[in-house]
Amino acid sequence: MTMVGGPPAGLPLSAIRHWVFDMDGTLTVAMHDFARIKRELAIPEQEDILTYLAGLPAAQAAAKHAWLLAHERALAAASQPAAGAVALVRALQGTGCRLGILTRNVRSLAQVTLQAIGLGGVFAEDDIIGRDEADPKPSPAGLQYFVQRWQVAPAQMVMVGDYRFDLECGRAAGTRTLLVNAPDNPWPGLACWHLADCAAVLAHWRR
Ligand SMILES: [Mg+2]
Repeated sequence: MTMVGGPPAGLPLSAIRHWVFDMDGTLTVAMHDFARIKRELAIPEQEDILTYLAGLPAAQAAAKHAWLLAHERALAAASQPAAGAVALVRALQGTGCRLGILTRNVRSLAQVTLQAIGLGGVFAEDDIIGRDEADPKPSPAGLQYFVQRWQVAPAQMVMVGDYRFDLECGRAAGTRTLLVNAPDNPWPGLACWHLADCAAVLAHWRR
C-alpha cells in the first residue's frame, strides 16, 4: 500500500518519538458492531452514539450507558491483537518513544483490552485517555492533553487510527496522522501516512 494524497508529512515516520494510538480497530481486531449497538439502544442510524447519549435526559442516558459499558466489557475481555500491533508498540517502547492511547472507550476497559492482547503494563494509566478523561474524538482535547503532558509540539506527534475521527482529531490538534486497517482510505486528505496495518507501520518506521 502506498501513501496517497493527504497533508504533507514533513518529516519521516522514524523521526517521530511521540505516538498516540486509537485502540479499537487499530491495536485490536475491530469487534464493535455499531449498527447492533444503535439498534439495541434505539439510536438513529445516522447519529453518533456518544453524542446522541449526551443529548438524552440523564436517567435515560445512564441506562443506555450502563448497557453500552456491559457490552463493551464483554468485547474487551475477548479482544484480539491487530496484525503487527504488539510488535510495533514493543518496538517503539524499546527505543524510548512516548506512547499514549486515545479511545472513545472507557479507561478501565482499555486496560482490560490491552491486557488481553498482550500489552498490559506498557501504557501508564495517565497515558490512557478514554471518553471520561477528555471530550471524545473528533475533539482535539485528548491530543491537546498529550501535548501538555509530554511537552511536545503537536507536529512532532502522530495520531494512529483506523477511522475518520482519529484523523480529524489529529488534524484539529495539529499532529501528524497515520491511517491503518482501512484498505481503501475513504478519507483522502486527512492522513499524512496510509499504511496497511501496524506491521506495515513497523516496516516503514524501521526504513
Ligand atoms: Mg478505531
